[in-house]
Amino acid sequence: MLRKLLNRSAPAPIDDAAWRRIGARLPFLAHLGDDERNKLKVGCEAFLAEKQFSGAAGFRVDDDVRIAIAIQACLPTLHLPLRPYRDFVEIVVYPDRFVAPRKQVDEAGVVHEFDDELAGEAMDGGPVVLSWPDADPAGQHPGYNVVIHEFAHKLDLIDGGADGTPPLPAGMRSRWTRTMTEAWDDFCAQLDTLEASIPRHIDPESPAADAWYARLPLDPYAATDPGEFFAVASEHFFTAPLPLRRAYPALYDLFRDYFRQDPLFVRLPRR
Ligand SMILES: [Zn+2]
Repeated sequence: MLRKLLNRSAPAPIDDAAWRRIGARLPFLAHLGDDERNKLKVGCEAFLAEKQFSGAAGFRVDDDVRIAIAIQACLPTLHLPLRPYRDFVEIVVYPDRFVAPRKQVDEAGVVHEFDDELAGEAMDGGPVVLSWPDADPAGQHPGYNVVIHEFAHKLDLIDGGADGTPPLPAGMRSRWTRTMTEAWDDFCAQLDTLEASIPRHIDPESPAADAWYARLPLDPYAATDPGEFFAVASEHFFTAPLPLRRAYPALYDLFRDYFRQDPLFVRLPRR
């Protein structure tokens, strides 16, 4: 029994051809050197040995799905001095966006029940749930990465609630709080100004308003709370680093020091 358990959790090597093929579809790995890529592969192998994937609503999880999710989940933690993602084993993958029932009590005490359509969800102490079209390397664009987003929440949750502050190295806390608060306050103010500028005949929730929101340095969802700000800013840090650095240079530097990676580092092609 013990042997069986040990065998089940022993990391199996990821096939080199699959590793290269899937990695080539993720342009935000470009700043990594060969040593870092090898370290990422070892990290992904350990991750895949620990995690259980299940397909929901008829979705079939194959090795390409597992590897693509592992790479994106393990990239942020590549150089972190902790073993992350230990509080859960299950990753659930849906064939499309999924619906989560919600309940909210408004200021008047009235309970509102509604359905939320989600691309991903990270449950405290529980699974990460992902929609494959959003997690698929083919479905991404700069500034959007649902896997990095949900796993940033998992990092944040290590030391209690998703408050936008993951476990930090000694000496970083006051810089973290100051930098994140300044950037978040600025972003919320920009969002308020922008929403006030949308003409009344345009529904802010409709696609017609997208052209306004596109002027923001981050997805407007970042204004939800500091936890979402950390998750959205992490997506931007890895997949759209230049716009993030232009908008919030101190935040970019903070993330570079926290993640111990510089996504803007340019590697010249080998001769
Ligand atoms: Zn989130």
